[in-house]
Amino acid sequence: MKRIGHYVDGSLVDGGDRVGPVWNPATGEQSGEVALASAGELDTAVSAAEKALPGWRATSLAKRQEIMFRFRQIVTDRKEELARIITSEHGKVVSDAAGEVTRGLENVDYCTNLMHHLKGEYSEQVASGVDVHSVRQPLGVVACITPFNFPAMIPLWMATTAIACGNTVILKPSERDPSAGLWIAERFAEAGLPAGVLNVVNGDVETVNAILDHDGISAVSFVGSTPIAETIYRRSAENGKRVQALGGAKNHMVVMPDADLDAAADAAVSAAYGSAGERCMAVSVAVAVGEIADDLVAKIADRMPQLKIGDGTDPESEMGPLITQAARDRVAGYVTGAEGEGATVVVDGTKKEFDGNGFFIGVSLVDHVKPGMKVYEDEIFGPVLSVVRVDSYAEAVDLINANQFANGVAVFTRDGKTARQFEFDIEVGMVGVNVPIPVPIGTFSFGGWKRSLFGDTHMYGAEGFNFYTRRKVVTTRWPEPSESQISLGFPTH
Ligand code: NAD
Repeated sequence: MKRIGHYVDGSLVDGGDRVGPVWNPATGEQSGEVALASAGELDTAVSAAEKALPGWRATSLAKRQEIMFRFRQIVTDRKEELARIITSEHGKVVSDAAGEVTRGLENVDYCTNLMHHLKGEYSEQVASGVDVHSVRQPLGVVACITPFNFPAMIPLWMATTAIACGNTVILKPSERDPSAGLWIAERFAEAGLPAGVLNVVNGDVETVNAILDHDGISAVSFVGSTPIAETIYRRSAENGKRVQALGGAKNHMVVMPDADLDAAADAAVSAAYGSAGERCMAVSVAVAVGEIADDLVAKIADRMPQLKIGDGTDPESEMGPLITQAARDRVAGYVTGAEGEGATVVVDGTKKEFDGNGFFIGVSLVDHVKPGMKVYEDEIFGPVLSVVRVDSYAEAVDLINANQFANGVAVFTRDGKTARQFEFDIEVGMVGVNVPIPVPIGTFSFGGWKRSLFGDTHMYGAEGFNFYTRRKVVTTRWPEPSESQISLGFPTH
């Protein structure tokens, strides 16, 4: 069985006795065991990061850019290899895994221009003979704690930006699919990143708690589920760390009466069932406005039987298994419980049969869903699409604005005025107009509102550079020594 350790100070290390299982979700077999770091092992990695910090901080921006360009080229050339590693532990189909790498590389593209992003500001002559300028400096050792569902893209969002800014990093990938994080660290080393700048420490809750309590770590970036994001936010802040903690989601897609229903149905199926619904930006609720509801439900249901569900390494497969058997059973519970809550199960994916022991489940469509039902309130994180029927645009907006989550949302309409009003009214961080999964391009930043993000900085792009740097403002004066005098008054201009 494959043993998955850590990557510390430029080398792969085995780790101690505490281990967790890593599964191949397509076969249901355990493929490896991952080391779960103790507080002591974490401390060794933090020491390596502290040791590397002065050198990396002093490395010229030109040299940092060169490493970023080289890293970008290596990952681009070997994208398929990384995609297959993702599929082997996560289960998503290889083309989807390659898409995740491409979206992660968008952020690397942004970081290749780090010299521009780290520029300070300068004001000449703010008072007689006085100039002011600002610089951006790194925070120190920062920790990046990532979820299972994007084992390459989210490390590429966080660690790459932190490194570009001159920090050294402890990356703690999800223990369910840890290999992509190690692969990324090895490729960074090939690109010329010095030992100790990027360390990968695998682990679980015990490891995370050690990170949150470690005095040597200045900042924490987290992506995962909402209850854990909230805990991470509180504990990091209590320990005096800068923190951004992105949480879960319940993404609605509003279909207006004037929308093209075939296009809307295609988008709903793609966004609800892609990656088996294990995306923080997956559409999990279609909000049908007015008379179109029956037609929309029929068109979505018509498309579902054609979806090919199977092993992610099979090029024919469009959707793979869920991450674990427990995740599969949990998702199934929402579908089987929906009728009892008063909803109508139009397509029941739990009844679909699969060969072998993989963690597969079919796709489900649940109609007449209402707030208060578990199928509506909880983040299911599986291939289950709920339909909520409302009478008006205003009712759709009220429904969404009342939800605790506010990650992504979409409106489908042919009317520009409605779309513009929706953008104005809706209290959600990322909005799509006829775009079901509006993940911002790398030159913008990613983040939800309300209980989908704890903290005040979004990830990657300009906000990422803000998060991983602190601004220093320098006021300069070169007076004639002969003009020097004592003045106890507060300096004014
Ligand atoms: P998770 O919260 O279970 O785990 C995330 C990370 O936290 C992992 O590294 C894990 O080891 C660690 N962790 C788990 N339990 C912990 C605990 N009790 N204390 C401290 N750390 C703990 O999330 P997941 O299941 O890996 O990922 C899916 C979740 O992530 C979904 O809720 C999804 O919406 C969310 N997500 C959000 C975004 C976003 O940008 N908002 C992006 C991707 C995923």
